[in-house]
Amino acid sequence: MTGPKIAIIGGGPAGLLLARLLQHSSLACTVFELDADRHARTQGGTLDLHESTAQLALKEAGLYEKFLAHARPEGEVLKIYDASGTVLMDENEGIGVRRPNTMSNRPEIDRVLLRAMLLDSLVPGSVQWGMKLSRVEQVQGADNERTYDLHFTNGHVATGFDIIVGADGAWSKVRPLVTDAKPFYSGISGLDVKLSSANTRHPDLGKRTGGGMCLTLGPNKGILAQRNGDGAVRCYAFMRAMESWDQDSGIDFGQMETAKREFVARYFGDWDQGAKDMVLRSDADSSVVRHLFMLPLGLTWCSRPGIALIGDAAHLMTPFAGVGVNVAMEDALLLARAIVAAASQKKTITTRTDKSALAAALQKYDADMFVRAERYAQQTWMYLGLFFHERGGVAMVEHFERMQAQESAAAVTAAAALKEEVKASAPTTSAEKMMAGGVGVAEVVRAPSDLPASTSASSASSPVGSGTTPLMEAKVGPHVE
Ligand SMILES: Cc1cc2nc3c(=O)[nH]c(=O)nc-3n(C[C@H](O)[C@H](O)[C@H](O)COP(=O)(O)OP(=O)(O)OC[C@H]3O[C@@H](n4cnc5c(N)ncnc54)[C@H](O)[C@@H]3O)c2cc1C
Repeated sequence: MTGPKIAIIGGGPAGLLLARLLQHSSLACTVFELDADRHARTQGGTLDLHESTAQLALKEAGLYEKFLAHARPEGEVLKIYDASGTVLMDENEGIGVRRPNTMSNRPEIDRVLLRAMLLDSLVPGSVQWGMKLSRVEQVQGADNERTYDLHFTNGHVATGFDIIVGADGAWSKVRPLVTDAKPFYSGISGLDVKLSSANTRHPDLGKRTGGGMCLTLGPNKGILAQRNGDGAVRCYAFMRAMESWDQDSGIDFGQMETAKREFVARYFGDWDQGAKDMVLRSDADSSVVRHLFMLPLGLTWCSRPGIALIGDAAHLMTPFAGVGVNVAMEDALLLARAIVAAASQKKTITTRTDKSALAAALQKYDADMFVRAERYAQQTWMYLGLFFHERGGVAMVEHFERMQAQESAAAVTAAAALKEEVKASAPTTSAEKMMAGGVGVAEVVRAPSDLPASTSASSASSPVGSGTTPLMEAKVGPHVE
């Protein structure tokens, strides 16, 4: 199928997945990515992919089996310490509360593997590397039809696109076409460090971390460690702080080994040594100061024909609910469905009517995305408050206890409702009970008084003998004691 000419800006999880989904439906597209090549930079830590969003998108992209080959369900466990080193909960060892079932089936995958899997799934040549978008220009054609040209920092101009998808992350260059909104500082920042081969080089810290995520949470601060598939532990020492804290601190973050010691002494000085060692013994040259940014909660804009945003470009949020990549991949899925549905009506998208159908599809995508994104952003904001709570890890554990209690109560209510439903449809007469139990014809006929009023002994024996009866069908259902 020859469809609209589509450019995707950014080859992160959202952009690459969208490309795969479109190509899977025989729609051509080009991804423009600023990295020089696929190995240009380390991709960072690990991501947990949720069942109803990212996993669903991978299924639709025909990549679910490949994902399972790389996924680490064992990485889902959570451990929480307080700042003094007391374990508040540990899913590795079954200590304390477990998170509710609604938070399970979220296996981890290393970012680098996710990106490689998506890249390998694309038509060769569909990613153009070393292309940093600087601006998008709308062009009015001779037939009064609008298309878009892309200007890159290397001077290249790519022309004549019907659809531009901004999948270019936090500092999107496509976003200004639809809104003036810019990311703002979330109030959280700190150091991002890495401990390579944690189990062999730092067995005590490997043990401390466990198999998945390990949070040490003190008042308004946290040392958040996460095991990666390559044996490394990625660790963030984050806190509530002014945006300029790193400059104001007088610590020279250009000399990172000294800076790490000063940072830990100043901001985490009275914390448990195990937590502090996660930062102090991290790899040389792996550490960076990181400030977390976000877009306003509930951000919306007027849809613009031919322009769509997905992932962080549309709704940058902090990582504290662990949903950023999941909503990004859900965006890719829903946008792909919208474009494919609109484009599949026609072999080419040339006329004004074709473009109107596309514009309507993008508008609907936007409207739906605004609602979903706001929900996830609210959830993320709530978790930010729990990660950086004045009562530290206790507040998070209490939150999980409340969720667990709600889930148990909901399960009891659901079980009672099901029992009532089954009871209401249960056989009331002996004949019905016998039929439900698979009792033979002769036995039914021996108890004519139990038959429904309209059913004589002879008519009762006949349908049973002839096969499945409505009565029997009605008995197919859940078994309750
Ligand atoms: C510290 C941290 C931890 C996180 N942990 C989690 C987690 O556990 N779970 C979770 O769900 N989410 C997590 N997130 C959020 C998650 O990383 C993002 O939501 C996700 O990566 C968004 O994907 P994306 O494709 O929209 O954007 P990105 O991953 O940012 O990809 C954007 C791509 O666009 C390219 N690009 C940027 N500008 C241009 C340009 N001008 N021209 C061309 N290309 C460009 C970039 O090089 C990049 O490849 C975390 C984020 C951070 C910062």
